[in-house]
Amino acid sequence: MPLILQPEPNASVLRHRDMILHDLTQLAEPGTVQSQIEARRAFETDALTAYRCMPFAVLLPRTTEEVSRLLAYCNVNEVKVIPRGAGTSLSGGALPTEDAVVLCLSRMSRVLDIDFDNRFARVEAGVTNQSISEVVGPDYFYAPDPSSQLACSIGGNIAMNSGGAHCLRYGVTTQNLLGVKLVLINGDVVEIGGSHLDSPGYDLLGLIVGSEGQLGVVTEATVRILRKAEGARPLLMGFNSSEAAGACVSSIIASGVMPVAIEFMDRPAIKVCEDFAHAGYPLDVEALLIIEVEGSEKEIENQINLIVGLSLQHEPTVTRISKSEAESAAIWKGRKSAFGAVGRISDYVCMDGTIPLSTLSETLTVIARICSEAGFQVANIFHAGDGNLHPLILYNANTPGELERVEHCGAEILKHCVAVGGCLTGEHGVGIEKRDLMPLQFTSIDLQQQMQLKTVFDPHWLLNPSKVFPLDGRKAA
Ligand SMILES: Cc1cc2nc3c(=O)[nH]c(=O)nc-3n(C[C@H](O)[C@H](O)[C@H](O)COP(=O)(O)OP(=O)(O)OC[C@H]3O[C@@H](n4cnc5c(N)ncnc54)[C@H](O)[C@@H]3O)c2cc1C
Repeated sequence: MPLILQPEPNASVLRHRDMILHDLTQLAEPGTVQSQIEARRAFETDALTAYRCMPFAVLLPRTTEEVSRLLAYCNVNEVKVIPRGAGTSLSGGALPTEDAVVLCLSRMSRVLDIDFDNRFARVEAGVTNQSISEVVGPDYFYAPDPSSQLACSIGGNIAMNSGGAHCLRYGVTTQNLLGVKLVLINGDVVEIGGSHLDSPGYDLLGLIVGSEGQLGVVTEATVRILRKAEGARPLLMGFNSSEAAGACVSSIIASGVMPVAIEFMDRPAIKVCEDFAHAGYPLDVEALLIIEVEGSEKEIENQINLIVGLSLQHEPTVTRISKSEAESAAIWKGRKSAFGAVGRISDYVCMDGTIPLSTLSETLTVIARICSEAGFQVANIFHAGDGNLHPLILYNANTPGELERVEHCGAEILKHCVAVGGCLTGEHGVGIEKRDLMPLQFTSIDLQQQMQLKTVFDPHWLLNPSKVFPLDGRKAA
């Protein structure tokens, strides 16, 4: 996966950039345009830290009008723009190129309106995912809950169609978004959707969700807020094999019982998370499921009884139902800090593919084989209920050639996901990471059609242009 590295800029390129910086500074509010090396360095990478490249400027606007002025200038002067929220993308979605400016929405973090009667909140794009639930709490919440929710922005969530543990029941971003304010590359400000379900006309909102910063810059979002259930309770189930745990997940889903979350960890993941969070996970099992149900006390009891009954045919060696709020919080802390916990012990790449649930056990065996043949350890932590895998392949970033080998290994896993009827990406987006794997999933005609759509929104390909589509075959777009 070669990164597009630009040649060292010559004197005329540097002069041209100075002119752009001068013009942008005239158009922007004081402090918006940052070109000092210290400021730019903070934006040279995102959570795909193996790749880095400094942009030639960073723009930190405070209003939609400012975003509009800046984009209109960039369009006329053909300046590439990388929209950015909190920079937690695991697929390199917010990675700059050296000839681009980063447009970061982090200063636009106001909550604009909360309407409990109509169950929505309107926020600026830089608001963090978690803070939406905090401001509408304690009786309401915003459902999609990426593990990065403390930091990631709603704008980034929309661009990546982010999910999380509880999306099994509540859906991902696209099911919880009602409308956006979007600034197009020519500076036009458009409202798409609204504050209620199903706006008239084409479903352009569906187009914007998951568009990875390539069609426009989201400056405001209207999201659905939900009333919290009366109660919630996680239970832990440990198994002697990943296959048994996988088969148990399939049985639960096939039965029609719908827990709010079913999360999976294999033995290496359990150990790392337990060492970090002291969540009380059993250490003598090969695979662990965290299953959460919600409702009244009676509903919780009924669902747990059904799930425990269904699990018996898969012979869990441990079944433990949370007995207190503190225990439940510890169970979730362990799961939600999993990526950070693995990061304490090793460099890793986090793959993100989906598979049909019926192929879960087979896929886990294939992942283990691919990684062991390449000599890498793998820890599997994922949203099992909706077949969204996250194998974390451990490697040493300081050993020359390991990154390429580990990426090859990840690509083999994603090929398998596609081959069994799944998808290249579940919730982390394509970014730069999976750009060159897109032909595994799409024909060249499919890709041409998607690129034509981008061209409609962004005729000069200035918005996040190096992402999503393979570099080969772009000319015809
Ligand atoms: C520890 C960890 C755990 C994670 N867990 C999950 C998880 O459980 N589920 C999940 O889905 N993801 C997860 N992620 C991935 C990441 O947090 C999400 O992709 C998130 O939505 C990115 O938001 P951000 O604000 O950081 O966006 P950024 O990383 O800044 O940008 C991501 C993409 O969005 C675009 N973008 C950002 N803001 C805007 C905007 N306002 N308008 C238009 N485009 C924009 C960027 O151009 C880029 O393409 C995790 C990441 C980490 C590091």
